Amino acid sequence: MSDIPVFRNYIAGEWKAAASGAVMENRNPSNRDEIIGRFAASDAEDVKQAVDAAAEAYKTWGKGSAIARANILHKAATILESRIPEIGRELSREEGKTLKEGIGETTRAVQILRYYAGEAQQPSGEHYPSMNPATLLYTVREPLGVCGIITPWNFPIAIPAWKIAPALAFGNTVVFKPASLTPLCAVRLVEALAEAGLPAGVLNLVTGSAGKVGDPLVKDDRVVAVSFTGSNEVGGELRKTMGARGGKLQLELGGKNPAIVLADADLDQALMHVVNGAMMSTGQKCTATSRAIVDRRIADAFTEKLAQRIASIRVGDPLDPDTQMGPLIDDKAADRVAGEVKTAKEQGVTHVFGGERLSGEERERGAFVAPALFTNVDPSSRLGQEELFGPVLGVIPADGLDEAVAIANQVRFGLSASIFTRDLATALIFAQQAEAGIVHVNSETAGAEPQVPFGGMKGSSSYSREQGKAAREFFTQTKTVYIDLPPVAK
Ligand code: ADP
Repeated sequence: MSDIPVFRNYIAGEWKAAASGAVMENRNPSNRDEIIGRFAASDAEDVKQAVDAAAEAYKTWGKGSAIARANILHKAATILESRIPEIGRELSREEGKTLKEGIGETTRAVQILRYYAGEAQQPSGEHYPSMNPATLLYTVREPLGVCGIITPWNFPIAIPAWKIAPALAFGNTVVFKPASLTPLCAVRLVEALAEAGLPAGVLNLVTGSAGKVGDPLVKDDRVVAVSFTGSNEVGGELRKTMGARGGKLQLELGGKNPAIVLADADLDQALMHVVNGAMMSTGQKCTATSRAIVDRRIADAFTEKLAQRIASIRVGDPLDPDTQMGPLIDDKAADRVAGEVKTAKEQGVTHVFGGERLSGEERERGAFVAPALFTNVDPSSRLGQEELFGPVLGVIPADGLDEAVAIANQVRFGLSASIFTRDLATALIFAQQAEAGIVHVNSETAGAEPQVPFGGMKGSSSYSREQGKAAREFFTQTKTVYIDLPPVAK
């Protein structure tokens, strides 16, 4: 059909079709009959052209002024900001989160661009005393070179922004491969940066599949660093590839995030944050709450409240302002989550409700699943251990703080963890003992602000952090300079 919009790659400052001419369709997860657009189905030839362009552009961009780079990011933020309503809507159509969340995420991307416009202007080194009082001894952080940015579909504009903005701010050039399920948001972000005046080749967008675009990108020796957010399985592959060729790698992977609810907590506050943490974005956040570890004395009463609140969630078209939860990203994901719920039920986990594919005309057209609640979950069971990446919450009763913390830590992940309590000492003990890169007291596991480090412990990341000042660590390398002057002639 001719009215389906066509979107292209952005390589060397030009919007161009895949070299092979191949295209891929992107569909609305709320209505699989609706095609959002046709995008370049790129392959190794397009990746090569993009890396060529990024390597060429690096020769000048990397040596240029940080203030000039800051100005471009600032301008891109202003351009993106002027488009928040449209892009937020496109995000919801493309990804399936509610319009409020789509607009919120686009606003976050604007904040991130602006933050890194400021960060680019911060000091990029340190001055040290030397053994020799005549020596000027200092460090300077220099860019790495061409960076590969590989992003998932669940935050289709914020995650690309929080990787691309620091990469560019600190003088790198970028080849960006977005998730094949959300290429439109990627196009919109790149448009804003291109219109803001990025020189040709500094940022290149190549859309397409993991095998045909991601794989050649991470195997290209000229791509000195890769920042990746996605599954632990793919993260493991990238470790091997990048390790073998000595590239720098940043991984943000999964989570199995706990929210501990103690008996002294404000239970209304805890209820709101546990439900939001578990169900917003249809549970498809790496920081989503998937385990509510509840003091046994209040577990039944709290589960009852959770059931009431979750049962009242209105699931439907994310563009409808009354909708509180949209679809999963696609039918494959919806079938997978429904399958996991069925397996947990068969394994005897106490199922309160939910997890089935939804019926009815409108919902059958999309990847809709009912939000699910389980209780008395065995912490060592599959439901207690594995990331389901969907709207599924399991309640695990625990006897007091020590047991709750032990259960919270008893998983291979360590991204985010919450506790609900009124007691300051308890909160501080939890903050010390939680094996998580992000700790919340009396707020949901999914909250993350752009000016502070973001990342997980254990299997959730690669010991590096994103966002805030931490991003400079990944996207630069240190040079130490000793300056001794020749003897001054008398
Ligand atoms: P998700 O499906 O949650 O986005 P994935 O880990 O499957 O998580 O994918 C995250 C991103 O990594 C996507 O852009 C995907 O296309 C890309 N990707 C997947 N496999 C590879 C791979 N082997 N090499 C490079 N990129 C990959």
